[in-house]
Amino acid sequence: MTPSTPQTQVFVVANQKGGVGKTTTTVNLAAALARQGVRTLLVDLDPQGNATMGSGVDKATLQCSVYDVLLGLASASTAIVPGSAGYDVLPANRDLAGAEVELVDLESREHRLASSLQALGAGYQMVLVDCPPSLSMLTLNGLCAANGVIIPMQCEYFALEGLSDLVNSIKRVHAGLNKRLQIIGLLRVMFDPRMTLSQQVSEQLERHFGQQVFQTVIPRNVRLAEAPSHGLPGVLYDPSSRGSQAYLAFAQELIDRLGLLPKKAMS
Ligand code: ADP
Ligand code: MG
Repeated sequence: MTPSTPQTQVFVVANQKGGVGKTTTTVNLAAALARQGVRTLLVDLDPQGNATMGSGVDKATLQCSVYDVLLGLASASTAIVPGSAGYDVLPANRDLAGAEVELVDLESREHRLASSLQALGAGYQMVLVDCPPSLSMLTLNGLCAANGVIIPMQCEYFALEGLSDLVNSIKRVHAGLNKRLQIIGLLRVMFDPRMTLSQQVSEQLERHFGQQVFQTVIPRNVRLAEAPSHGLPGVLYDPSSRGSQAYLAFAQELIDRLGLLPKKAMS
């Protein structure tokens, strides 16, 4: 991959389990990349709208959301709003819960997000998609729009359970719907180094997935959990906290791995 590739990278942050750190990863990675000068868009595909709120966008007062975009009622450029942390947001709210059913009868229902993002052109270097905790039509839209998947994982006993379902879904989408899709990596989150079990599961992940496990490990850190109530990602709310430092390091690891250079370094 050449560093100056004009193509937009589209990564989904997916794991069909709830509460495993998808949203925290999406907003903090978006903010950390934006801080480095990477033009970033966050797409919220979860009807809970947590990534929307955590990006400083009020989900209750949206004129337009990703729901309208998926159903063809608005263009992505109409629905996108600036967030509080240097990146743009295609926001979500509870309307999106209805999309699951309404999409069923629509043409090319899996590709609605992909087409909408393509229509945006190459304005963004990175698009990060926060997925709901399911392998639903919404997640499928994310996977069809993406070229990469980031899987946040808690290093606990049941973490590996269900991972094969996700990996099989990704393989199916790759085979049938989106040849560009690949797993970028597994990110260990909410890590507690004092727990022997965390260490053991972490080592198990490295053995099974090798290079696909990111080197950066995100520790459990309360500042990351406090940040959303201030409408900010942790990396802006308290940049010096251990959790924020880890997400900043993760962004750098991704930038290095992808040869993704900030705009100012490209000229
Ligand atoms: P998901 O989007 O997968 O449901 P969230 O990102 O919303 O998961 O995280 C679930 C809960 O855990 C939230 O309350 C969040 O603030 C908290 N959390 C996430 N990552 C961390 C972390 N590294 N340290 C402490 N709390 C975290
Ligand atoms: Mg979430």
